Amino acid sequence: MYFRTDPPSDEAMAQYAELLSDANRSWPSYYTGPLPGDEPTHVEMFFWRGDEAGWIGDKSNFETARDLIRGVADERRTDTELSDEQVYECGGGSSAWDVAQLYVQVYEGGCPAECPGTHTEECRPGCDPYVDFCHGQECEGDCHGTQTFTPAFRTAVALAEYVKNDHPFLSEDDYHEQRRDVFEANLDEVLEDVKLHYPYDTEGDHRSIVEHASDALWELYHYEPDGYVDWDAARDAYDQGRSEHFLDLGRTVLRNEIPGQTALMPA
Ligand SMILES: [Zn+2]
Ligand SMILES: [Zn+2]
Ligand SMILES: [Zn+2]
Repeated sequence: MYFRTDPPSDEAMAQYAELLSDANRSWPSYYTGPLPGDEPTHVEMFFWRGDEAGWIGDKSNFETARDLIRGVADERRTDTELSDEQVYECGGGSSAWDVAQLYVQVYEGGCPAECPGTHTEECRPGCDPYVDFCHGQECEGDCHGTQTFTPAFRTAVALAEYVKNDHPFLSEDDYHEQRRDVFEANLDEVLEDVKLHYPYDTEGDHRSIVEHASDALWELYHYEPDGYVDWDAARDAYDQGRSEHFLDLGRTVLRNEIPGQTALMPA
């Protein structure tokens, strides 16, 4: 772990466990699929989506949390059987209609589905509550008190509470890396477009222009929190870099002046 989280309070644990009764936030359920009728076992702990309401920080936290939670589930194991079972991820998050969700199994232990419930001494030996008059309790999943929170769920709650109360990022480094990648991809796209406005510049000119404009272009990174690149601002920076480039080129031509070639100097 890159940081310390406090163990979550009992209140927080109970609050997230309660999501099991919210069909929109639990899995499997009528809303989240895939098998309506099954009792929900997992609750949604993290999500992200890629529309304009989305945020790179959510994606970064989602992915960082997922890896940490899976790691806890698989602790002291050589396979991923437990994390595959206890951590369920769905959706790719790439649009408003495609939300990525991370569901984590709340409980482990408890009674098997065919548990006959508890019995008292007044019960007939081998009492079957469906046939005999039973003095005990019918099983509601944990009649022997063996059910516990999964370590994965404890970790998930600790991480969710950390993001909520302490710090917006689980991993500052991961967030900045993701934001830089998005910015770079957007910048490449804008620069390819700006380049088309100067059809007579060569590839070499373009590379040199981008180099000259590099500081000004990366300045833009600090103004937009989500890796967005403003087209006009990028164009301004590019034009500035372009002037510098051709000025340099002009000086070079002058220095290496060859008779009859000063006409190469750009306007
Ligand atoms: Zn009984
Ligand atoms: Zn039971
Ligand atoms: Zn230069």
